[in-house]
Amino acid sequence: MTTSRIEHYINGRMTAGESGQTQSVYNPATGQISGQVALASRADVDTAVAAAQAAFPAWADTPPIRRARVMFKFLELLNIHKDDLAAAITAEHGKVFTDAQGEVARGIDIVEFACGIPQLLKGDYTEQVSTGIDNWTVRQPLGVVAGITPFNFPVMVPMWMFPIAIAAGNCFILKPSPLDPSPSLLIADLLRQAGLPDGVFNVLQGDKDSVEALIEHPDVQALSFVGSTPIANLIYERGAHHGKRVQALGGAKNHMVVMPDADLDMAVDALIGAAYGSAGERCMAISVAVLVGDVADKLVPRLAERARALRVKNGMELDAEMGPIVTRQAHRRITGHIEKGVAEGAELVVDGRSFDIASTGDGCAEGFWMGGSLFDNVTPEMTIYKEEIFGPVLACVRVPDIATAIQLINDHEFGNGVSCFTESGSVAREFGRRIQVGMVGINVPIPVPMAWHGFGGWKRSLFGDTHAYGEEGVRFYTKQKSIMQRWSDSINAGAEFSMPTHK
Ligand code: NAD
Repeated sequence: MTTSRIEHYINGRMTAGESGQTQSVYNPATGQISGQVALASRADVDTAVAAAQAAFPAWADTPPIRRARVMFKFLELLNIHKDDLAAAITAEHGKVFTDAQGEVARGIDIVEFACGIPQLLKGDYTEQVSTGIDNWTVRQPLGVVAGITPFNFPVMVPMWMFPIAIAAGNCFILKPSPLDPSPSLLIADLLRQAGLPDGVFNVLQGDKDSVEALIEHPDVQALSFVGSTPIANLIYERGAHHGKRVQALGGAKNHMVVMPDADLDMAVDALIGAAYGSAGERCMAISVAVLVGDVADKLVPRLAERARALRVKNGMELDAEMGPIVTRQAHRRITGHIEKGVAEGAELVVDGRSFDIASTGDGCAEGFWMGGSLFDNVTPEMTIYKEEIFGPVLACVRVPDIATAIQLINDHEFGNGVSCFTESGSVAREFGRRIQVGMVGINVPIPVPMAWHGFGGWKRSLFGDTHAYGEEGVRFYTKQKSIMQRWSDSINAGAEFSMPTHK
């Protein structure tokens, strides 16, 4: 069987780098190795940063409208090649092709937003702050910035970062997850075809050693991270220690509250899609259903029936609803959580461990397969309630009223996304106001904000104070400069020793 070599992309060229180290990449549907990805050494990081640093002055000086034109061309190419990108995602991540298409589409939204960079970089101006003096602000790029991204969105999450960073005049180093590294190289090629100068966008394949080298590198000005909470926390602290700007988005445990007055058909559809879509490997997946009053007795049997009937198959099959788990290790971790849930007393209504792909006879018997699992009577002390499982496991918690539901969610350490299904405007309003979570959906299960609104959770789901993309993204990737100006015909003679005031 042939396997591909997945290299770095530095200064406009593919390179194997110097480390000589590689890691196997799998097709999760078949369990077979599909490629070997290079793992960058510190020397490779130095090479990439030097290339980006060399490209920065000319790119930062390029007028924003011309940088935007490169983005427009990139957008055109993305729309032509979007299905190639989606297929590359499914091949290494395993998610179903239609879901991968959706991921690419949401990434494209951010590129469209970045095409408006001339407008986004427009500063403020005040004429005559004092006699003959004007004051204005501009936003200038930072220099070399890096993005460290997770396996679960190998196209969309990098696109939360680099379109805005580059359009704003920075040079970017992407360090993708080594579990699904190939889409990053397709992106690099499309940017090259779009006319982006060499060195402005680079891809460093690797894992924690390359991240450590990026954190410590004095020429890297900012780090954007998306991944699990322990690593997000570490990057935030270590990055700040090294004087960098850091935005670090972490893990999640997203709840969906279902009120007794909710449209239950809609709630069942929402829960099934949001819990089991992408095999639950989404930071905005719903992993806890908070069922208020008598809802549980009506909803749990319907959820169980739907969970058992999920079409779990190779993501390239067009009717697939759920693909495999990303790795054998992740499969083991999720299985361990299910065992723990049973041991701690939760009621396992549907056991996804018993799913057998061999019975479908499609040649995927060695893949990392599992069906959807459903727990009922989960309580807040249980590990499966407290920890992020990041797999196709939905936990149902029963509560008596909305106040208890809100308190439960607010007490959780994560605060990424949340949702409430109700027909009551006042419940929806109160929920939106009181909930301590960054992204809220009312009758919407996965409220991922649009490209111009910005993405970010609260509590231990985000470290740093700017959210990803939107105007916050522009702020993150630029620094503000204030310029105050006076020309000689308004300059008074003599030194002034008191604090200048407007005259
Ligand atoms: P991960 O934390 O294992 O890896 C993320 C990135 O960090 C990868 O590029 C990886 O190579 C690198 N990395 C891993 N260990 C490291 C270490 N010790 N030091 C430095 N870098 C290291 O996350 P993952 O498994 O790839 O992704 C899943 C996680 O990401 C979940 O927790 C999920 O909730 C989270 N996620 C969050 C968001 C969000 O917006 N909040 C979005 C997507 C995913």
